[in-house]
Amino acid sequence: MWQLADLVQADERRRSFRARAYRRAVWALDELDQDLGADRDVMLATPGIGAGVAGLIEEYGRTGALAQLDRLRGMYPDETASLRRLPRMTPSLLRSLKADLGVDTEADLLRAIDREDALTLKGVGEATVQLWQAILQLPPHPGMVPAFRAWVTASELIAHLRRHIPGSGAHMAGAVRRVEDWVDRIDIVIVPRDVSAVEGFLGTSAVLRRADRSADSLAFETHAGIRGRVHFSGADSLGTTMIEATGPPAHVAEILGTGSPVPYASEEEAYQSQELPWIPPPSRRLPLDQAVETVRMEDVRGDLHVHSDRSPDGRMPLELIVEMSIQRGYEYLLITDHTLGLRFGGLGRDELLTQADELEHLRRRYPELTILHGAEVNIGPDGTLDLDDETLAMLDIAVAGLHSHFGLTIEQQTARVIEALGHPAVRVLAHPTGRRIGTRPAIELDVPAVIAAAVSHDRALECNGHRDRLDLSVQWVQTAAGMGARFAANSDAHRPDELGNIANAIAILQAAGVEATQLVNTAPVDEIAKWLAR
Ligand SMILES: [Zn+2]
Ligand SMILES: [Zn+2]
Repeated sequence: MWQLADLVQADERRRSFRARAYRRAVWALDELDQDLGADRDVMLATPGIGAGVAGLIEEYGRTGALAQLDRLRGMYPDETASLRRLPRMTPSLLRSLKADLGVDTEADLLRAIDREDALTLKGVGEATVQLWQAILQLPPHPGMVPAFRAWVTASELIAHLRRHIPGSGAHMAGAVRRVEDWVDRIDIVIVPRDVSAVEGFLGTSAVLRRADRSADSLAFETHAGIRGRVHFSGADSLGTTMIEATGPPAHVAEILGTGSPVPYASEEEAYQSQELPWIPPPSRRLPLDQAVETVRMEDVRGDLHVHSDRSPDGRMPLELIVEMSIQRGYEYLLITDHTLGLRFGGLGRDELLTQADELEHLRRRYPELTILHGAEVNIGPDGTLDLDDETLAMLDIAVAGLHSHFGLTIEQQTARVIEALGHPAVRVLAHPTGRRIGTRPAIELDVPAVIAAAVSHDRALECNGHRDRLDLSVQWVQTAAGMGARFAANSDAHRPDELGNIANAIAILQAAGVEATQLVNTAPVDEIAKWLAR
C-alpha cells in the first residue's frame, strides 16, 4: 500500500490526494487486527479506510496482487524510487536515465549532472538540472531525512503505541526532539508494561518494513525508508533514558557521567542532581553555562505572524485565534493575513478595512488580549510591497516576506529584501531565506548584508516555526545574534494545530544560544507598542 502511495504520488505529481489517502490507510491498517480478510463493514468503520482502500484490500485478499500497483510498477523502474519525487521527473525520463546513463540512485544522478551527461537527455534543460542538483545536495549526509518527515512518522507511531499498549508511556527523543533540520533516525523511549506486546505490535505494524530486537532496544525501518530505534525503559529510570536517548553524547556525559548512570525517574531530577535547571533539548548541544540561559517558551508574550481564514490558505476564524491565544497565555497577537500580490490572492484595502472593524469588535469582547492589526505583505521582485503606503499606514505594522521570484541573482535578491526592510511600515522579515527543508533550497541571498540592514533599521528577523522552514536556521541565527540582531519567534499558523509551531521557532533560538532579551515578542505589551509605533 505504501509503495502504491509512492507510485500514485509520482504519477499524479506533487500533492496527490489519493497518495495521501493511501498513506493514511497504511496507518489505519494498524488499527485492524492485521486480518486483511476482515469484513467490509469493520474496514469501513475504521477511520482512514474508505471505500476505495477497502476495495484494494479486498482485491489483495482475493488475488494476492493489486492491478493498479502492477501497472504503475511497469511504468517506473523499481530501483529509482528516491528519484521519483524530483520536480519535472516523468516515467519516461526515469527510464532513459536508467537505460542510457545507468542512473538508479541520487548519487548516480548527481554524478551524471557533474559530468553534464544528464543534459544529453531529451527534455532535460539547464534549469531542470540545476533544480535537481540543488534538491539532491540539500541533505548534509546521504541517508538523512528532513526532520519534519521523521517527526510526522514518530508522532503517529507514538500515538499508536499509546492506544494499543495500554499503560505504556511513549516519548519522542533523539535528534527529532532536539529539533534538528535533518535526522538520520527516529528515537522513541517506551516505558513498557510488557516488552513483548510492544515488540509484537511493532513487528506487525503495516508502517514498518522490519523491526529487529537487540539488547535493550528495537531497531526498525519504515516503508518510507526512515530508520528508527525504540528504547525500553523502566519507569524509575525514565529521566536517565530520556537524556541518553535525546543526546547529544557530549551533553549526556556531562549530566550523567560516563560509565553506568544513576537511574533518575525524571529529567528534572537528573539536572537537579547537578544543580541545574531542566535544559530544553535544542540547547543541549551548547556549553552548559550558555544552555541554562537560553530563551524559554514561557518567555513568549505573543505571536506576530498568524493567518485567519481570510487568507486563501488560512483555516482559522479570527475569534478562534483570539481565544486560543488567550489560552496560550499571550498578552498580544498580530494578525497577518496574506495580501494582494500573492500568486493565489490575498487581502486588499477594502478587505483590510472590513477586518479592522472585526478586530475592533473582538477587542471589546476580549479586553485581556491586545489585538494588533498587521498583514504579511509580499515583497515584489524590485523590493516594493503589494499594498499602497496609505493602506499600510492604517495597519499597526507589516510583516514582509518573499513568496515568488526565487530564481533571481544574489544581487537582486539582496537588494529587494533590503529595500523592503527599509519601508517604514515593515517591522519583521518573515522566513528570510525562503528555504523548505528537503524540497527548496534557500534563495541566493547575502544574508550578512540583510542582517546588517535589519539591525540598522531596528527590524526583527523572523524565526519561522513551520517544521519544514525553520527559517532563519540555527547557523544564521548565530551569525545574526553576533551582529546584534533581534528576532521574532513566530508560528505562521494557518490552522489551529499550527499555533504550537512557535515552539519550533523557540527551539531554533535555543539551539543558537539566544536569550529572551534578544527577542521582540518576549517584551511586555507597552514596550512592543513603542517599537511598533517608531
Ligand atoms: Zn509567508
Ligand atoms: Zn505567513
